Amino acid sequence: MVSEIFPGVFRFVHPPSANVYLLKGTSRNVLIDCGLQKHAPLLSQELVSRRIFPTDVSEIWFTHAHADHIGGAVLFPKSRKRMHALDGGMVNEKRGDFTYSPAFREEFFLFIDSFFEEGQILSCPPFSLKVIFSPGHTAGSVCFWDEQNGLLFSGDTLFKGTVGRWDLLSGNKSALRESVEKLSKLKFSLLLPGHGEVLKGKQEGNFGKAFLVLED
Ligand SMILES: [Zn+2]
Repeated sequence: MVSEIFPGVFRFVHPPSANVYLLKGTSRNVLIDCGLQKHAPLLSQELVSRRIFPTDVSEIWFTHAHADHIGGAVLFPKSRKRMHALDGGMVNEKRGDFTYSPAFREEFFLFIDSFFEEGQILSCPPFSLKVIFSPGHTAGSVCFWDEQNGLLFSGDTLFKGTVGRWDLLSGNKSALRESVEKLSKLKFSLLLPGHGEVLKGKQEGNFGKAFLVLED
């Protein structure tokens, strides 16, 4: 299923794949995460239904290295692939124990061409997003914040009503709590998580729930 959730921002939903977001820019198109390899044909069909061909996707920005976020990259051999080095290095070493690809019966490994840094500004005109380093779900998790439009792409760090798991390889509960605190200081009105529903409007109640989950 695909829907436009904000002008120029599309969300593709194929559970258990992660949500895939398309930023349809004026001069180029960017994907945020790309789901499982097994859902790549569905993603391709739905992109084409919006008149976007895989070769029209110039970059993929990954929130982290788990298989349900990366496998769909099989569709985009020519796109530039970007991730934080702490997760991206594991992808480039084909570390299935880190990505959980074997657990999803997925074989494809992409190559990360470029590593994010905290605070880096990413451009897909008219969108401009800041990289927010948010370890905890994995050591190299990031979120993407569009301050101007009030959008936060939160990966598996923060969901509607809860937070991501911290018990997988390189996960860390206290780091996750600090990351959620960091997110709670950002201004945004639309939460676009890696799984589940988009959350609109005031975010205070959601942060309250997230901190409850993270209590000792
Ligand atoms: Zn994950």
